[in-house]
Order: sequence, then structure tokens, then C-alpha cells
Amino acid sequence: MSVLIKNGRVVTAVDDYHADIFISGETIDLIGANLSIAADHTIDARGKLVIPGGIDPHTHLELPFGGTITSDTFETGTRAAAFGGTTCIIDFAVQTKGTSVLDALETWHAKALGQTAIDYSFHMIITDMPEDRTKEMRMLCDEGITSYKLFMAYPGAMLSDDGTIFRAMRKAGEDGTLICMHAENGLVIDELIKTALSEGHIEPKYHALTRPTRMEAEGTHRALAIAEVARAPVYIVHLSSYDSLQELRLAQARGVMAHGETCPQYLLLDVSKYDEPGFDGAKYVLTPPLREKWNQEELWRGLRGHALHAISTDHCPFCLKEQKEIGKDDFSKIPNGGPGIENRMSLIYHYGVSGGYIGLNRFVELTSTGPAKIFGMFPKKGTIAIGSDADIVIFDQEREEIISYYNGHTHHMNIDYNAYEGMPVKGFTETVISRGRVIIDKGEYLGRKGDGQFIKRGPYGGMYTPSKSGEIPERAPASRPSV
Ligand SMILES: [Zn+2]
Repeated sequence: MSVLIKNGRVVTAVDDYHADIFISGETIDLIGANLSIAADHTIDARGKLVIPGGIDPHTHLELPFGGTITSDTFETGTRAAAFGGTTCIIDFAVQTKGTSVLDALETWHAKALGQTAIDYSFHMIITDMPEDRTKEMRMLCDEGITSYKLFMAYPGAMLSDDGTIFRAMRKAGEDGTLICMHAENGLVIDELIKTALSEGHIEPKYHALTRPTRMEAEGTHRALAIAEVARAPVYIVHLSSYDSLQELRLAQARGVMAHGETCPQYLLLDVSKYDEPGFDGAKYVLTPPLREKWNQEELWRGLRGHALHAISTDHCPFCLKEQKEIGKDDFSKIPNGGPGIENRMSLIYHYGVSGGYIGLNRFVELTSTGPAKIFGMFPKKGTIAIGSDADIVIFDQEREEIISYYNGHTHHMNIDYNAYEGMPVKGFTETVISRGRVIIDKGEYLGRKGDGQFIKRGPYGGMYTPSKSGEIPERAPASRPSV
């Protein structure tokens, strides 16, 4: 199978030129002007952008949480991602307390195998890590899992104490892997929740009022300080506020290998959403919560100024009916999370690039190249280059849509609402090629479940080499991938 893309404007994190691209099998074979080669399939991309497929490094498909399970499966979630121009996700496998991370990995492999439309990998959520099991982290690396997530929130369920965080970070620093942190002071937040409930406040907006930005900033500060002492890189997930961003900048200025991601919901939605009538505010009960609007401008500045290195969705969908409703009489029982896997590329293009906050190259960097580099998939993923996987999106800058649950072009996610309901976008995914196969063409899905493959990821910053018979190589000096 071969594909020839003619006449497109090829944009990567650093390039911007007109060229033809010849794909043979799963990878890019040739890039040049006026290529005349016979191909099984020729696509005319005149007037369109040709960009690397999006990489969403933060999704939760089929995740058990709060007594229910996220409504998108690996099949429905990855198909929706494909419609939106994302060709690779990194989802989260979860190790529960007292169990092996290797068992958790097996469980998540079983969920995803043969189900996905696009390629995927996993981070491993670690909930406890006794000293005698830290060696499992190394074994995970050999399986291509080179990043872990720890929580400072959700005491009693996910929260790791600072000692566990330090041990995991020190081990990650030795191995050349990366710890992702959910940075919030969960213990203080728990007290605020108890107080709010004791005063009879049960509405969804109290989810936001009990999670102040200062408690996110405190968690961020603590995560960065522990990483600094552990001499390990760290990645702050779903950074939502200016207070937190300032902590990240300070640590980066000290030389801490600190990365941050933010998400469309923090850039485009604000705390006023919790005032939607009835129980509709529950649609936005996600963690961290939506913030006061002025934070948005600051987050765009953080993206433009390279303090933040990626835009993920934290796609964690729960239907309003029956799922969010679990918390109808108690905001603290509303399953935390919201949808977005499908709408990221158009939202960031329209409100970020056309909105004047970031350039086209930076758009590609934040939605694809940055995540690929940080999470050990570059240059297989995250760029358009000879030998790279042919994960390519043909993007129509002129196409206008209104994002809506009711718009068949913008909502294929398995959830009964869209968080960006009614928001206009100009700039839309037209064709999606995933490892050489055209899986979306002019709004039609041509792929099959099982097209996607598990991607074994490499080390952070090129530091890790697979262990042979348990030997641990010398620790290389840590360096941050340039994003
Ligand atoms: Zn998440």
C-alpha cells in the first residue's frame, strides 16, 4: 500500500514548505517537490496544511473511577480521537495498592488490544511503591512504559505520600524515565470538602470552590522540590492556573527538569460554567476545576513562552445521565472528568493560532512533537520526516464548524454532552493517515478497530538503555528534551 500526498503545505514544529509526500507501507519514504510516482492512493492537499498526527499524552479510556467507568472504550475513544486528527494517545494504566505494576499493565493491554483505531501507549499510575517493588519500575521500562503517574490528590484512593513520591522519582531519575504528577494538596482539599458538605453545600460549583488554585500551586511546588532533590525530571499534568504556572517557571529557572501540560478546558472554559442551570454544572466537574477566566491569558502566555510543553485533553468522559448523577446530592461524589479527545486540534488551532497566541509551528509542537519527545516516541512519532511513521493529518484551515453534541462532524465520543457546546471553530481535520493507512477521509471513517498498535516507548531524553540480566547501567547526565 502506498499513498502520495500532493501539493500540500507541510508544517512541522520547525518547518513550513510546500512539497509532496510519498508513503510506502507504514512510513514516510520520500519528501520532495513535484514527485511523480505511481501510488495506490493519491490525495490532493492543495490549499491545505499537512501536519504530523496529533499526540494526546493524557487520556482515560475504560477507567474505573468513583464507582463507575469512563464512557469511552478504547474502540470509541480512539475512533473519536482519529476524527479530530489525533493519531496516537498515551492512556493511563492503574496499579492498585498492594498489587504489581506488571499485572496492571497486563490488564490494560487486554483492554486495548485489537480495539483501537490509532496507536497507543500507557503511562503507569502508581498508588504505592514499597522499596522491594521499585525494581518493577525498571521491568516496566523494558516493556516500553517509561513514564509513571503519581497523585497528591484523592487521599485513601490514589494519593501517594511524599516518601513514596521521592522514592519513585529517585528511581525514575536513575532509570531515565519520567514521573507525571497530579499536583494538588489532597489532604487540605479533603478538609475543605468536609466543611462545605457540613454547611449543606452540595451543588457542583462547590467542586471548584473547595479546590483553590493555591492548593494546586502548593502541590506543584512540592512536586518540583522533591524532583529537584531526587535529581529527576518531572512532568506536571493538567496545569490549570497562574499560581501553579509561576511555581513551574521558578523551578525551571533553578534548572529543575520540569515540564508542564495544560488542556483546552483550562484555556477556553472558566468557572462561570458551574452556574449552568440545574445539575448541568456537573459537566465541568473535572480536576483541577475550571478557574477564573483571567488564568486563561496566563496559560496561553506559558505555552507561547515555553514554560508549558504540551496540550493534552485529560479526556475522562462520564455521561451526565446516570454517571455524573451519582453525585446529584453530593458534589464530592460526582465522577471527576470531562470529554475532549476529539476536539483538541480544532480548538487549539482556532483559539490558539488564529487567536494570535501561538504560531503554526508551535501548534504542531504542543499537540504532537513535544509529547513525542518528552515521552520517548520521537522521531518515530511527532514529525513528518523520512523514516518516521506516516501519521499525517490534512487540515483544512477554511472549514468552519460549530462544536456540538448534535453536530455529527464534531462529536463521535460516547458521551451525552460536549464540553465545548456551541463554540465555533475555523480549521478542521479533513483526512487522517495512521501508519500509512487512510483512516479518515472527508469526514468518513475508513479504518477498523484493531488498526492501532501498542507503541513501546523509549527513555526520557535518551537516557535509558534496556537492562540485560538485571544489570543497571551507569547513570547518564540528565538533560531535558528541547521542546
Ligand atoms: Zn487525568
